[in-house]
Amino acid sequence: KQRLEGKRVLVTAAGQGIGRASALAMAAEGAQVFATDVNTDALKTLEGVETFAVDVRDQESVADGVARANPDVLFNCAGFVHHGTVQEATDDEIDFAFDLNVRSMMRTIRAALPGMLERKGGSIINMSSACSSVIGAPNRFIYGTTKAAVIGLTKSVAVDYVAKGIRCNCICPGTVESPSWHDRVAALGEQLGSKDAALKQFVERQPMGRVASAEEIAALVVYLASDESAFTTGHPHIIDGGWSGQ
Ligand code: NAD
Repeated sequence: KQRLEGKRVLVTAAGQGIGRASALAMAAEGAQVFATDVNTDALKTLEGVETFAVDVRDQESVADGVARANPDVLFNCAGFVHHGTVQEATDDEIDFAFDLNVRSMMRTIRAALPGMLERKGGSIINMSSACSSVIGAPNRFIYGTTKAAVIGLTKSVAVDYVAKGIRCNCICPGTVESPSWHDRVAALGEQLGSKDAALKQFVERQPMGRVASAEEIAALVVYLASDESAFTTGHPHIIDGGWSGQ
């Protein structure tokens, strides 16, 4: 038997990076995967999963997408990284980040819960980060603040639904190779005057001396989606190459 046989899974931000790798990994374990993103071109390159557009910032789009998937497993992966300190953060950036990184999860969770409650089971997996309440990272003020909020959101949902068969956990990765990470390396490279210097800065904070692949994070998503993780709820699952564990 495959690890996710019989499970319907909805993934947000599945067009690239960790969401994409997770959608494919869960499909490979027998799940019926609904892979969604705002970038429909990126979705077109996914095989073996059903794809359609969901903008997690749009209530109606979320309601339609969740109704279509009726998921047993919800993986809230969408998020954006702003650069800068508290002094540099603008109100617009802060509003955008709280909407995309945090409120989006409230929308999808509210939409998915009635189906999960009816079936008396479900696993909700939220994308946080090691950069959150776990550890501070330089120039990640907005990001770290929103990702810490994801941990609080996760614990709150977990405690309210633990007796109803629904689990809610979050994932806290260190640095992961993805298209947007390559953009961040390029941007820092311009600031520092060389791409190598930027790469060095990202890699050096990982005691393992490398960043993660999206597939390594997807393996944790598969575990949290499956019944193998039936006894864990309400926790940030840290997967960071030793960054915060020293
Ligand atoms: P990425 O940043 O390269 O891709 C993000 C995807 O989100 C894109 O496909 C984009 O189209 C989609 N998206 C943007 N706005 C959306 C919206 N409104 N609705 C639906 N989809 C939308 O991928 P990544 O780097 O793997 O990041 C995925 C998640 O993992 C994010 O929440 C990120 O914060 C988190 N994370 C990433 C890292 C890392 O180092 N890459 C580390 C820790 C946590």
